[in-house]
Amino acid sequence: MFTLITLPYGLDALDSVISARTLTFHHGKHLQAYVDNLNKLLPGSGLEELPLEEIVAKASGALFNNAGQVLNHELYFTQFCPGGRALAAESPLCKQIVKQWGSLEAFQDEFVAKGVGLFGSGWVWLSAAPDGSLVITQEPNAGNPVTRGLKPLLTFDVWEHAYYLDYQNRRPAHLTALWQILNWAVIEKRYTVH
Ligand code: MN
Repeated sequence: MFTLITLPYGLDALDSVISARTLTFHHGKHLQAYVDNLNKLLPGSGLEELPLEEIVAKASGALFNNAGQVLNHELYFTQFCPGGRALAAESPLCKQIVKQWGSLEAFQDEFVAKGVGLFGSGWVWLSAAPDGSLVITQEPNAGNPVTRGLKPLLTFDVWEHAYYLDYQNRRPAHLTALWQILNWAVIEKRYTVH
């Protein structure tokens, strides 16, 4: 039985970038619905005892869609904090980003461009391959990089429900603003813990 995660900040804490109204719907209505659907679909699937990441890696159809959206949103909501937290220059993650992209800014530009360029609904991801190298992928709908054998580190939700109340059609402005509230300490930890 899965339950709705508690947000690690107040509903109005990210207000400069994500309004309380958006969070109320996005967390309280959209994510709650995915959790409820997942709990309805799991019994009899043969995957009931598995951790969420393994359910997503093995499921298909409606079960995949709802389990994927629960995992995606848990990773998404827990990576933010009021005011954000900077990426530590000495961290293994920062060193790997600079090695592959030249600078954090160059990485961020490509990440946002891949989110802007994703047609329709989905997610843009930064993930780690088993050898520690990093990759940016676009996943449509409920997609998650665990289905490609990658470890998901960072994600921006490009479904319109994530930004339409605050930004309407301005997806590029919304994605660019998300860096202001990103807690890089969380992303560093996801990269370190394998
Ligand atoms: Mn969403």
